[in-house]
Amino acid sequence: MRYHKITSPDINSGLGFRVTLWLSGCSLNCKFCHNPETHNPLSGKEFTNESMTELLDKLGKPYIKGLTISGGNPFDSDHQELLSLIKIVKEKYPKKDIWIFSGYTLEESMKDSTLTEILENIDVLVDGRFDYTKRNVSLAFRGSENQVIWEKDSSGKFIKSKLN
Ligand code: SF4
Repeated sequence: MRYHKITSPDINSGLGFRVTLWLSGCSLNCKFCHNPETHNPLSGKEFTNESMTELLDKLGKPYIKGLTISGGNPFDSDHQELLSLIKIVKEKYPKKDIWIFSGYTLEESMKDSTLTEILENIDVLVDGRFDYTKRNVSLAFRGSENQVIWEKDSSGKFIKSKLN
C-alpha cells in the first residue's frame, strides 16, 4: 500500500480535528478531480511500519477525534492491507472514529467481501465519484450532490447521515 501524506490536525475531512491518510491510487478518473496527482498507484511512498507509528502517534493526541482515510480512492488500495491498518487503529484507539472517502458507492463496495469487512469496521463512509455537473461548494465534506455521507445506526447498519 502506498500513500502521499499524513496530515494533522485536519478539519476538512470529517467532524472534529482529524488525522488524514492520503492513499495512492484511483482508477475512476472523475473529470476535474481535485487530487489527480494521487491517481497513479505507484505515486507517493510505501506505507511502512514507521508510517504506521507516525499515524498512531498523531492519532494519540487527545484533541484528535479520529482517522480519515482518503486519496486517491482508498478502495483501490490493497484491501487486506487497508483492513489490517483499520483493525490496528481500532484496537489501539477504540474511541476514535474512522471515516473513509471512496469513489465507489456503498452498494458497489458491498459486492466485495473484504471491502464489506472494512465497512463493518469503520464509522462513516463518504461515497461516490465526483460529478462536476453536480458540483456544489456548500455541501459538507462532499464535492458533488450525488455523493452521500453514510453513518451507522445503533444496529451497525449504514444509514444516510443528517450531514447530507
Ligand atoms: S474518485 Fe476521487 S480521487 Fe478518484 S478521480 Fe474521482 S474525485 Fe478523483
